[in-house]
Amino acid sequence: MKLPEEFLRRMEQRLGEEYPAFLQSYEKPPYRALRVNTLKISLEDFFREPPFPLGAQIDWEYRGMYIDEPKAGAYIEHFAGLYYLQEPSAMTVGEFTDGCKKERVLDLCAAPGGKSTQIAAQMEGEGILISNEIDAGRAKILSQNIERLGIRNCAVTNAAPEQLAKNFPEYFDLIVVDAPCSGEGMFKKEPEAIAHWSLQNVALCAARQRDILDYAARMLAQGGSLLYSTCTFSEEEDEGQIRAFLSRHGEFALEGDEKLLPHKINGEGHYCALLVKNGGGQRGAKPYPVKKNARANKAFYEFAEEFCTSVPQGEITTLDDGRMYLVPAGMPALGVRTLRLGVELGEWDGKIFRPAHAFAVSLKKEQCRRFYPLGKELAQRYLRGETLACSPSFENGWCAVGYRSYPLGLGKIVNGTLKNHYPKGLRLRG
Ligand code: SAM
Repeated sequence: MKLPEEFLRRMEQRLGEEYPAFLQSYEKPPYRALRVNTLKISLEDFFREPPFPLGAQIDWEYRGMYIDEPKAGAYIEHFAGLYYLQEPSAMTVGEFTDGCKKERVLDLCAAPGGKSTQIAAQMEGEGILISNEIDAGRAKILSQNIERLGIRNCAVTNAAPEQLAKNFPEYFDLIVVDAPCSGEGMFKKEPEAIAHWSLQNVALCAARQRDILDYAARMLAQGGSLLYSTCTFSEEEDEGQIRAFLSRHGEFALEGDEKLLPHKINGEGHYCALLVKNGGGQRGAKPYPVKKNARANKAFYEFAEEFCTSVPQGEITTLDDGRMYLVPAGMPALGVRTLRLGVELGEWDGKIFRPAHAFAVSLKKEQCRRFYPLGKELAQRYLRGETLACSPSFENGWCAVGYRSYPLGLGKIVNGTLKNHYPKGLRLRG
């Protein structure tokens, strides 16, 4: 691996006698890890039947495990949302956010969802999480991950920080800015990060981070916490960025920061800083404008009575295109492009209600009255989109199709055939 010369010169200058150890860390293969999704499975259950051998627990995240398996994303348990694959040092964010108040949380630069899914597990379904991503393509992937992990209290938005700042003055208790950065900690995992690295890019990233942080500062409520993180080592983007922020924002104080360097930990490196806002005015934001549709709701409840053991409670909004969502309690009006809101229940076309994949995967097996269990081989065929023969004793109609105790998606039984409703874009290939 050929690292940029200017990068190496700067690191040598900064690290002094630690520099040879830092350089050596690039000779090791990149670390792989997963984080168990405790919204879907307890750690005990995951450890009892792991999909592949697990390595040591990660020091700073009890849900995180080192792994060797290169194809961990192709296992049925991954499709079932039982774990999230994440670089281990990125999980340090959870250590900082653990003690924070989390009634209203914004993850401002959220795709593909590592920090959002970690914080959602800490929130245990309470409060509201807005996971935002500026890039439309990446926002779609974020939305799929939020769905796969069965997160019910989250809205996924696709907006620039300045758009959100207009709508949410002094609103959030916790804002996470996992900033776009020069990615010096990604050199082993993503060779293109090496190609993109330059001093100009470091300066460009620092200027962008400064703007994002200033918008985040506006959206934080008095007493709220701002967690800033990067996967880079440059002073301008890390400690220097925070010093400059504090000099612009007298209402903030630094609670603590941590720089994980790859020669000191089993991970690729990360920087985190936790800031607290002491000043501030009144909270802004209006409640989410629920669009009630009595006929659509009636059709959903009729379906839910048959499908679930307990009917989901809460406000249902039906959008103009017929999509129906269970709105998390306390959700504010968003006013920006929204890809997902709470749990997508299904679609109402004016006559018929059709359940959504997201609804099935938001449930636990014991919440499904109609759960059709598959063994490993059939589950793989289901994930590929195949139609399956099923037991004739199983009544016609919609069911949650599952593997072990975990719903994978929807199927419709018609006279001994299990019609496959696993979404095309999510299917297992190969
Ligand atoms: N938090 C994510 C996770 O844990 O999976 C990783 C976020 S990544 C380090 C930074 C994100 O910031 C990228 O998805 C990128 O598209 C987004 N981004 C780029 N420019 C931005 C800007 N000007 N404002 C806000 N976000 C931006």
